[in-house]
Amino acid sequence: MAKKRKKRSEKGVLQLLRFRTTILILLILVLGFGAVSVRLCYLQLVNGPYLQEKAVEQQLVDTTVNSKRGTIYDAKGKILAQSASVWKVVLAPAYLEKDEQRKYVAKNLSKILDLSYDDVYAKTKKKTYYVVIKRKIESDEREQILKFVDKLTDKYAKMSNVITLFDDYRRYYPYEDLASSVIGFTGSDDQGLEGIEFQYDKYLTGTPGRVITARNANQTDMPFEYEQNVEAKDGNSITLTIDETIQSIAEKYMKKGLVDNAVVKRGVCIIMDVNTGGILAMVTADGYDLNNPYDLSQADLDAIKALPEKQRAQAESNALSAMWRNKAIADTYYPGSVFKMCTASMALNEGKVNDNSSFYCGGSVTIYDHTIHCHYTGGHGSQNFFQAIANSCNPAFIQIGNLVGAEKFKKYYQAFGFSEPTGIDLPGESDDLFFANNRMSETDLAISSFGQGFSITPIQMLTACASIANGGKVVQPYIVQTITDVDGNVIKNTETTYKRQVISKETAEKMCGYLERNTTQGGRNNGYVAGYRVGGKTGTSEKIGNSRPGFKDYIASFCGFAPADDARVACLVFFDTPTGASYYGSQVSAPVFVDIMSEVLPYLEIQAEYSESEKKYVDTVAGSYVGLSVKKAQAAAKSDGFTTTVKGEGSKVISQIPSAASKIPTGGNVVLYTDKESKKNKVTVPNFVGYSVSTVNSLASDYGLNVSFTGVTSSANSVSTSQSIAEGSEVKPGTVVSVKFGGGTVVHD
Ligand SMILES: [Zn+2]
Repeated sequence: MAKKRKKRSEKGVLQLLRFRTTILILLILVLGFGAVSVRLCYLQLVNGPYLQEKAVEQQLVDTTVNSKRGTIYDAKGKILAQSASVWKVVLAPAYLEKDEQRKYVAKNLSKILDLSYDDVYAKTKKKTYYVVIKRKIESDEREQILKFVDKLTDKYAKMSNVITLFDDYRRYYPYEDLASSVIGFTGSDDQGLEGIEFQYDKYLTGTPGRVITARNANQTDMPFEYEQNVEAKDGNSITLTIDETIQSIAEKYMKKGLVDNAVVKRGVCIIMDVNTGGILAMVTADGYDLNNPYDLSQADLDAIKALPEKQRAQAESNALSAMWRNKAIADTYYPGSVFKMCTASMALNEGKVNDNSSFYCGGSVTIYDHTIHCHYTGGHGSQNFFQAIANSCNPAFIQIGNLVGAEKFKKYYQAFGFSEPTGIDLPGESDDLFFANNRMSETDLAISSFGQGFSITPIQMLTACASIANGGKVVQPYIVQTITDVDGNVIKNTETTYKRQVISKETAEKMCGYLERNTTQGGRNNGYVAGYRVGGKTGTSEKIGNSRPGFKDYIASFCGFAPADDARVACLVFFDTPTGASYYGSQVSAPVFVDIMSEVLPYLEIQAEYSESEKKYVDTVAGSYVGLSVKKAQAAAKSDGFTTTVKGEGSKVISQIPSAASKIPTGGNVVLYTDKESKKNKVTVPNFVGYSVSTVNSLASDYGLNVSFTGVTSSANSVSTSQSIAEGSEVKPGTVVSVKFGGGTVVHD
């Protein structure tokens, strides 16, 4: 009991002390400000008319101190956006008494800061203690300003407060245009304007501080000096689900796809973790430089310049909006045949179809007065369910859609998540466009079954595809994983949200099987990735309206996932208005999907498993045989899986082609040189294009060259389409020529 009382009394004393301290502080504050206020009132009211100009001598200066904006990291902790220290130059011209001083300050400041002398001089004449001369200066300018302040105080008395440097920050994006449509940028006041910078502005921005200072001209006749400081609180940092490596891979191939296919209205690639909904990459290609977000491309500038003068401002604003637009979430489009994966899932889940169901295609179907053609005008004839998918046959899918019926179709459409925005944590997401009043006529149902007639966003399509890949669960896509405060405490972490089970696990697994078989049928043009089990579907859809007179505009897309038996990632590739040799999803988008997945899957440490037919095209790394005797070198190369050709009369290997550590197809030939004379030998590279795999192999061995195979080599009708070293080039024997293959059954859809 006594102990307890003692404790209480100790607490009481502490409280009293605290109370007294608080009162003391309050008194100082009230008296302090009071005194300043009274003096200001006196000057303004009593002596106002007389001392109007002199009133400036006593001022309360209230300055905002910017807080440091939080950093944006990728999933692996790489910095995507950060704030670097810069400074704000503030002048207190009221301290400058003579014109000679004003001119001296104006001359030096304008020179250091690259400003007009007249403008700075005008500011030196103001009767104030606070005028901003320049914002966001870098450290080299800061150094020069500090030197000038030293000179100024040496030259004149009472000049130490004339120039003040306030801390400020400048936003900086180390990867420039990487993920630009996702990250966004900030305005001149550090406020988020687009993307994550906009969406998470309140977390990133922090709390600005304040400095309140009482000042007077000669710094001596004030009753006291007072400065109140409220520290700025730095913003929180954000870690995205975006992985810089995956994003870079996707951007590299999307850029190439834009050029290869003369794409007019940009392209989209989204890669999602199908089990969590986390977005690993989101590309709107081409992006823009986040450090200079108002710089338009030369093509845009030229187009604007060609317009009549009064239209230019609007055109520039439109071009900027188009450049900043995150097409992955803001654009709506007819998904086309990619959507057949959903129609097929519905029919399967409802038990309306099975492996043996039969569908007939005579090349077209007429519903009332509406004739719908199959892309294969000759007609696919009789097909089972899988063949209908692999053929991407519209008449078959009209029959499948019919089996589902309009009511169920709408129910699944909703359940797949198409009838509302996905809710991804980015600004500007669009909603779908379905039939008026949610009503579907027989024709509407027919065209919907192959993905025409209604519009959805790329992110909606990918989310639906992910649900087929992950066992039937619709996940909520998201892009911010964690938010961390200045001290490193996690204040928000995104958990996976499953919205609903749209199709059964069994249906999903069956669909994965069909979609995997589909990719193996058309090779590169159907999304086949050597060494991996991939599922997916091509799509080509007509756009409403056209950008070029006499031509139709199309969206070429591919949507797929891997590994097909235990999916980790889904990927959508989408090109808006390709105007090159082809506009088909199979020729424009599927090859880009293959290139992206061929690099992303190994990066995700998903092991490639090559089939027997693929194995012989897999490259192995050559060992180093230089310095060994001919006999030992031959044995070593043999154990590495290579054959050898010896050139020269020497007894030791002095050089080898291909060199050590370079990649050669297993079973390739290593040329061992034993004297300098033999090293001068050259061979002429033949034409490798237009042949089968076996012809290319025998050509290579005839010429003493090695071939590395890329593209689709597994299909019986694979044909070489390009070679890395031009025909007619002089190269050393044993040099590796990379030969690319394509072909197989091309589904033009
Ligand atoms: Zn057909």
